[in-house]
Formats: sequence, structure tokens, C-alpha cells
Amino acid sequence: MAHQDAIAYQSHDHHHCIEGAMKAARQLCRQRGVQLTGQREAVLRLVWQSHRPVGAYDLLGQLPDNRNGRKPAPTTVYRALDFLREHGLVHRLDSLNAYIGCPHPGQQHDGVFLICRHCRHVQELPGERVRQTLKPLLTAQGFSPDALLMEIPGVCPRCQQDGEGA
Ligand SMILES: [Zn+2]
Ligand SMILES: [Zn+2]
Ligand SMILES: [Zn+2]
Repeated sequence: MAHQDAIAYQSHDHHHCIEGAMKAARQLCRQRGVQLTGQREAVLRLVWQSHRPVGAYDLLGQLPDNRNGRKPAPTTVYRALDFLREHGLVHRLDSLNAYIGCPHPGQQHDGVFLICRHCRHVQELPGERVRQTLKPLLTAQGFSPDALLMEIPGVCPRCQQDGEGA
């Protein structure tokens, strides 16, 4: 495993992950001529608070009250999440019904996610290499995939070290 792939499993200054993600999002929205509104940005920041997936209702509970002192409506969160998904800034994990920030938005990629069943850490694999590996197998079957979407449950290296594995 290349160094950069494994880095999320090491302890790191997560602040850099968050700020990097926000910067990438602003850049991508500018390039595409779409608006990263305050609400969308707030939701993205909350999704990125850790490398663990988060559900829409958890997000809703953490959003600040809006201007008239009320909790934002669930539709506000869902609309923001739809926008973020549409632009590849977050991914939805169907097996967990939760969302995770994408570490390399804007690139054409598939979604292969390693989900730790102990600490819920989610690591997204670089899609290009997964595609190179899997494509010949699928071609051999004469199968044409729409996308390579995989959610793989297991135990992350950190939890294995802590003796939580197997
Ligand atoms: Zn991080
Ligand atoms: Zn991604
Ligand atoms: Zn783990």
C-alpha cells in the first residue's frame, strides 16, 4: 500500500483534512460556476468532522439554528447533501445509510470504500487502480459495469494493532 493511501489510518492533524476539503470544494464550485452556499458549506464541514460516516439526522442535529432561531428543516440538509453528492464532494454509503467526504473530488472515479466495523473509519480507495485491477475480470465475463461501487466491511490496521481484529 502506498504511503499516501495509508496516511488516514495514522494519527494526523485532521484540521488539514477539513481545510483541504473545504478549499477543494470552493475551487470545484468556482470552476463549475455553482454556488457553495453557507448551508452547503456548513453541511460539508460537518461531514468532514471525522473519517467516519455520518447520517443525515445526525447532521441535522448539529447544524446551527437559522436566522429566525429555528432548527433547519430536514429537507435543507437533504438538499445540501444532494448538491454535494452531485458534485462528488461527498459519497453516500448505502450499507450504512450515511455520508462520507470525498478526499479527491472532481476526479472521475468509482467508489470503493473500506469500512472498519470497530471504529467505523472509512477509507476510499483510489478508483483508477481498482478499475485497472477489476476491469479485465469484468471484461472476461462480458459484463459492462455502470460504476465500480463497493462497500467492504472489515477491520482497519489501527484496530488490528489494538487487538480488535479477527
Ligand atoms: Zn483526517
Ligand atoms: Zn471519492
Ligand atoms: Zn478501525
